[in-house]
Amino acid sequence: MSRPHASCSPPPWRLPAPSPALLRYLAAVLTVPAWLVLGKEAPASSTAPPLEYIDTSFENASPLWYEPAPDGSIRVHLLYDHERASPNRAAGHIHFRLHAPPGTRLTLEFKNLDNVWNGRPGSVAPELQAVVVSEDGLHWQPQLTESLPGNRVRLGVTMPGPQLYVARVEPYRLSDFDRLLTRCRTHPLVHVTRIGDSLQGRPLELLRVGRPEAPGRVFLRARAHPWEAGGNWVIEGLLDRLLEDSPEARRFLARYVVYTLPLANPDGVARGLTRFNLAGRDLNRDWDRPADPKLAPENAALEAWLEGMRAIGQAPHLALDLHNDGGGRLHLSRPPILTLDRHLARMATFETLLRQHTWFTEGSTGGSYRNAGTLGDGWLERFGIDAAVLELHCHWIAGVAEHPTAPHWRAFGAGLAQVFYDYFERVTP
Ligand SMILES: [Zn+2]
Repeated sequence: MSRPHASCSPPPWRLPAPSPALLRYLAAVLTVPAWLVLGKEAPASSTAPPLEYIDTSFENASPLWYEPAPDGSIRVHLLYDHERASPNRAAGHIHFRLHAPPGTRLTLEFKNLDNVWNGRPGSVAPELQAVVVSEDGLHWQPQLTESLPGNRVRLGVTMPGPQLYVARVEPYRLSDFDRLLTRCRTHPLVHVTRIGDSLQGRPLELLRVGRPEAPGRVFLRARAHPWEAGGNWVIEGLLDRLLEDSPEARRFLARYVVYTLPLANPDGVARGLTRFNLAGRDLNRDWDRPADPKLAPENAALEAWLEGMRAIGQAPHLALDLHNDGGGRLHLSRPPILTLDRHLARMATFETLLRQHTWFTEGSTGGSYRNAGTLGDGWLERFGIDAAVLELHCHWIAGVAEHPTAPHWRAFGAGLAQVFYDYFERVTP
């Protein structure tokens, strides 16, 4: 009969069991978690969620970092971009790719939604009521978020496959713009001009669609604020409508010509910023004075183009700066000018036509509203151009009772073709 294995009987040198207090003391001096020494179950926070990775390596992805939370969710910390010489900061662009096994249920909580805007605190949380998701980065579906107390926003997703893109609004990337240029730059009615370069040397490409001698001239800009991709889809919808081979399109372009700068802040779009350019300038501010060519070359190039057009008597009659927000209204300009009443009457005509030919129902800003320094306010005050900021609601279109994706905004753009046609019939340029 063999001897019992040594491990079956306590060794003669075994110490008495230490007290829990002693173990906690040891844990403290050894700087290891108490549960490791006490041999208890690890708390839930140490259980890694089934997320494999959040990929932000591609164009227009939002810079962020993330961590597992004690409740099993993943905290997604969006990074702020900051305004130069200002307390303003912004985080709210969302565009990343989740990697996790198909069928995995993930809960994300977005952090750093506490922005500072015009020197005042303002949370993005109330506007973050829906996002869009896509398996391939091309076909997007709206998905609701969950609002929690304390300006917290959560998103639950079930992985349909090994990867899932998540975005604040349907993304429009530099590559999407390149595809638009490829599609239309050889059209005889399209002329592309490189009006300058961004801070990082990206081209600022301004398109003319139609004939310069047309009686009406419209200007549209988008992406001064990089997260606000809706305006780009609107411009695509408008251009596709105007470049159709149809009697309507020929009628539109006999009455007006469109000039457009679709990517006003290409560096911010490429790098996934939220609001500012790479020098910390807000490109929808400071239009009440000449643009700074060093810190805002994007605006300086546009202003130089505008001065050139004014010099040959071809300045735009109507200018729209397209944005996204959680209100979706037409922001009327009200600088202290003698002809303000005439401008507001024209904008009332424009708003009526928007309601008539698009799904627009959100209305315009009231008499006490003034946002000095926007393109709308500045171009009206300094150049006498009927100019306004048109915000597109980022998560809800009341006129069709749906969450917006690119087809809604394209349809809005197609409707603008008729809006401009009627506008230049009623308003003499
Ligand atoms: Zn904006």
